[in-house]
Amino acid sequence: MTKNRVGFIGLGLMGAPMAANIARAGYPLTVYNRSADKAHGLSPLGAKVAETPLQIAAQSDVVITMLSDAPAVEQVLRGEEGLLAGGRDGELLIDMSTVSPEQSRSIAIEIESQGWRKLEAPVFGSTGPARDGTLGIMVGGDEALFQEQHELLSVMGQDIFYMGPMGAGTLTKLAFNLMVAAQVASLAEAMALATKGGVDPRQFSDVLVKTAVASALVKRKLGNLVEGDFSAAFPLKHMHKDLGLMIDTGHSIGAPLPATGAIHELFTAATARGRGDQDAIAIYCLLAELAGLTPDTSSPH
Ligand code: NAP
Repeated sequence: MTKNRVGFIGLGLMGAPMAANIARAGYPLTVYNRSADKAHGLSPLGAKVAETPLQIAAQSDVVITMLSDAPAVEQVLRGEEGLLAGGRDGELLIDMSTVSPEQSRSIAIEIESQGWRKLEAPVFGSTGPARDGTLGIMVGGDEALFQEQHELLSVMGQDIFYMGPMGAGTLTKLAFNLMVAAQVASLAEAMALATKGGVDPRQFSDVLVKTAVASALVKRKLGNLVEGDFSAAFPLKHMHKDLGLMIDTGHSIGAPLPATGAIHELFTAATARGRGDQDAIAIYCLLAELAGLTPDTSSPH
């Protein structure tokens, strides 16, 4: 069976390896990235490079977006060279960016009024699963459309869930990420407490990995902490954005999130101190500074 022509917009930490898997699976692929140099990295895999989102619309049956946030998605949709200026009736957008349910529904309404169709498909798993094609994908939107696109989604992910109507996938993603933020923040606080009190960080780590709180996430981030490696797998600025979306969503549906509010403040402070492009676990560096610990592993960049 002929494969759909796929357009991929947003070749950041996640998007680049996801698009590479689509090319390797034999889909005719055209890519676009705001900073063009990242797009050319996909050429050796046979991907065509578009200069505008409009060109992506013209050359694709299905367009995937993997962008920072909702304003970025809106930016590629709108304007004379935007996606919505091109495309055919019934063309499909699969937005895999992490946005709020409200933002996702509002984007769906905008593009459906232009004859497009939309699925939301945010992911869990970081750059490793993006590279290995083993992401988790939580889909919201029309179920028949989801079934139609299952094969394409399977190229990027191994655990693929249909969650319900538009907004259900993004809500699941935010609710799950709330626990990621809490684990990262509690790990950073625990390490700052132990270290400030004179416990050797490696010894503390040796104990922690044997305890019931040592999730796969905690183990991975603990390794980064002990090595002083704060290079981004999941940029702190995106966790900060997600925490804001969780709180906005909680307000709008009447779900109080008091602990998430405190963690959001912590990430706001770390972002204001220039740590947004480091990994989310660099939240430790802020706590270490506040506790008067050695700044050498905690300086930004
Ligand atoms: P990233 O490396 O920061 O990449 C962001 C992408 O968005 C880049 O291609 C960037 O283009 C593009 N972009 C940003 N603003 C734009 C704008 N105004 N117009 C056009 N393009 C714009 O982020 P990422 O880690 O790949 O994450 C992408 C999404 O997945 C985010 O929503 C994030 O929350 C979510 N996510 C990330 C992870 C993870 O572990 N990293 C895991 C799950 C979900 P430039 O290259 O030009 O800057």
